[in-house]
Amino acid sequence: MARRVGVREAVLARMLEHARSACPLECCGLLGGENGVISEILPATNALGSEREYSIAPADLVVALRSFRERGLAHLGIYHSHPRGENTPSRQDIEMAYYPSCAYFIVSPRASSRAVRAFELHDGRVTEIDIEVI
Ligand SMILES: [Zn+2]
Repeated sequence: MARRVGVREAVLARMLEHARSACPLECCGLLGGENGVISEILPATNALGSEREYSIAPADLVVALRSFRERGLAHLGIYHSHPRGENTPSRQDIEMAYYPSCAYFIVSPRASSRAVRAFELHDGRVTEIDIEVI
């Protein structure tokens, strides 16, 4: 998988907005697009309603994947927020990464450097992916 992912500027803005509005809870959602460029964001409910972990509500997952498929888009990413901490994957984020071909975005409104970072999480390994704003 490429170590770079293209993301529409509006998608990044909406991700950040979702993270801020959900604070202090973690938010989450799905990202779709084509040709390696993310152009669609579908916010989802965090079924755990937690400040420290997330789980995309199963019904939202089904609706989002169907929506992507019906529009000929690929499921390219998953995002969630770390309302208080830095945006590096937690142990649980790594263990619960069930989509090895997805880019995992972590949004941290209070991060000291970049508010949005992306990672490839595969077999317990973490590799940062460059975000190219398009
Ligand atoms: Zn996390």
